[in-house]
Amino acid sequence: MNKQASFFESVSRNFDNAAVLTKYPKGLLSQIKAANAVYQMRFPVKIGNKYEVIEAFRVQHSHHRLPTKGGIRYSHYVDQQEVEALAALMTYKCALVDVPFGGAKGGVKISTRNYTPEQLERITRRYTVELVRKNFIGPGIDVPAPDYGTGPREMAWILDTYQQLKNGEIDSAACVTGKPTNTSGIQGRTEATGRGVFYGLREYLTLKDEVEALGMQTGTGGKTMVIQGLGNVGRYTGTISIEEGDIKVIGVSEIEGTIVDEKGINIAKLLKYRASKGSILGFPGTKTLKSREDWVSIPCDILVPAALESQIHKGNAKKIKAKIICEAANGPVTADAEEILLKMGVVVLPDMYLNAGGVTVSYFEWLKNLSHIRFGRMEKRFDQNAYTNMVDMVVRLTGKTISTRERSLLTKGADEVDLVRSGLEETMITSFHQIRANYTRKKSVKDYRTAAFITALDKVASDYLTLGVFP
Ligand code: NAD
Repeated sequence: MNKQASFFESVSRNFDNAAVLTKYPKGLLSQIKAANAVYQMRFPVKIGNKYEVIEAFRVQHSHHRLPTKGGIRYSHYVDQQEVEALAALMTYKCALVDVPFGGAKGGVKISTRNYTPEQLERITRRYTVELVRKNFIGPGIDVPAPDYGTGPREMAWILDTYQQLKNGEIDSAACVTGKPTNTSGIQGRTEATGRGVFYGLREYLTLKDEVEALGMQTGTGGKTMVIQGLGNVGRYTGTISIEEGDIKVIGVSEIEGTIVDEKGINIAKLLKYRASKGSILGFPGTKTLKSREDWVSIPCDILVPAALESQIHKGNAKKIKAKIICEAANGPVTADAEEILLKMGVVVLPDMYLNAGGVTVSYFEWLKNLSHIRFGRMEKRFDQNAYTNMVDMVVRLTGKTISTRERSLLTKGADEVDLVRSGLEETMITSFHQIRANYTRKKSVKDYRTAAFITALDKVASDYLTLGVFP
């Protein structure tokens, strides 16, 4: 089975399943579905004492809103279909969470483990030059961000290369998001996708009827979770679920294998262990499963695929013993697998909603870069003084006293990170209820993915119709 083709087909099939339930004309739906621009490139990079020809892509799926937006993936699985599928998901994701961008995605066909940081820097800078040359990057054109295999370091290289070529462009910092905080980034971006996954899951778990129908009680506390992939998305989903949701992570799967501990695995400590030993295997208190692939069959409440697409397919879907699947990765459940899971009564919280925290906070970072000011700088002290006056007045009028801790809790003005978290939480909760309205309103909608697609389609179609392109 061609893994990437199946991902592309899954996204296409999921789109079609939702599209037939809408009232939009065929031509409009075809326009929304199609990738608007694909740039395939090959460029030479000196690796050691020879040149390597690197294959890469940037796909702008939808120009109905500009700039387009989407991460850059470094992986040896990258091909055009994979990047097209990921770019399409970005269009629907941005629409769902009311982030005013079209969808895009980049891919560089390399395995990062085969290159030194210096070589990766050369590849990243050369890729950026190609994007600039073809007008595929810019604050109002197309704004990349991190994805699988890339992070703040790569985003800083992209920014620096862009600024060298576009000297004096005042908004240049907004050409890429997910940058380090000291390089025009924003507090809270690194953890944003994982934090958003937690907020989305937490919101679902407030639905009494649905959660009880799954044989559980509402709330996150005491639920068990298994995570595949401890990269950016997986690690923050894990740590935040433990710290803020009192969830127990009882299984973790990584490249080297799968470990379990029913008492709960401390993800922060496991990451330190992996950094020193180069593997999660042997982490004190855990048992290693025979096969890495057995992560899917660990009995738990919540299964979190946070690595790559097509990890849950028709070959292993029946082994799943979880009640909820949180699609932290993009496309981890194939369309075939989802049909099986639906029959099994497993709830899938779909990628295009659940992992939208990253692009949401990227939007905040872009706004910060365009406004050239840190969030909270103008109002923090003003709010703090006003709250202090209010507390002083209440204390004076009541004659009661409060502790220093209580006082600082009541009078604190919001820092950038507080505002980012608040904006993210608001986005994940509001979007969830928009999707849920479509889930409960239409009898023909059997799953949250179709409901999410319909919600996104309504918004994108409305943009096109307002533009007058499809009167
Ligand atoms: P990452 O490179 O930081 O981490 C991925 C992790 O998965 C790595 O630790 C890798 O070793 C592990 N992995 C790969 N194959 C595996 C396998 N077969 N079994 C177990 N572990 C495996 O990537 P990321 O940024 O965390 O992205 C992960 C997924 O989340 C991707 O699908 C990506 O598109 C999606 N996503 C990322 C973001 C973001 O902000 N980074 C936002 C939205 C969606």
